[in-house]
Amino acid sequence: MAVDKQEYGNVTSEGLRYKPRGPFHRLEKNRPIFNKEGKLVGITNPRDMTYIHTYGGEALYFESLGEGKLYGTRCDNPDCEAKGSVFMPFRIACPDCLEKMTPVDMTEVARTTATVHSFIITERTGAFNTLDIPIRFINVEFEGVCTILMSYMPVGQPEMGMKVVPIFKTADPDFLVTDLAFVPEGTPQDKLPKGFSFKK
Ligand SMILES: [Zn+2]
Repeated sequence: MAVDKQEYGNVTSEGLRYKPRGPFHRLEKNRPIFNKEGKLVGITNPRDMTYIHTYGGEALYFESLGEGKLYGTRCDNPDCEAKGSVFMPFRIACPDCLEKMTPVDMTEVARTTATVHSFIITERTGAFNTLDIPIRFINVEFEGVCTILMSYMPVGQPEMGMKVVPIFKTADPDFLVTDLAFVPEGTPQDKLPKGFSFKK
């Protein structure tokens, strides 16, 4: 959805504080609600809400997608049973020992070993969906990774076991999970969605 950035407020960060500036609560016209007999029974009160979501230790993951890099995390705690396990999606703490994990660049592993574990094609979405319908959601397997990563396939038809490669929204990234997608191996650059590329 193209929006004029001038109409919206911005948020900056200083230390642990967020500083919102500019218009955030924009007024929209109320609409009357009439019953079948044409009598007024209510009114709509549109509200424009911006939720500020903190990325914290996951900021590296979202920033790297726009740079054409896919990070996972690995538990390096020598006392943990899961030591050496790599997790994708990126998570900050090990689910087994709760220690902070180490970010690892998994871009090359994803390029060479990603396959479709399972998939689901959806024709209907919730509110504020920005992906083209139908959405081909895929669960992706990687060699040496102990979890499955959920993503989507904007080009081609998914099949279980199919080899796929990651693509990244490197032009004007949104810093969202949708900056990462997967396409069948061998897909040419000119078939990728606008703004996406194989690498920066
Ligand atoms: Zn651990």
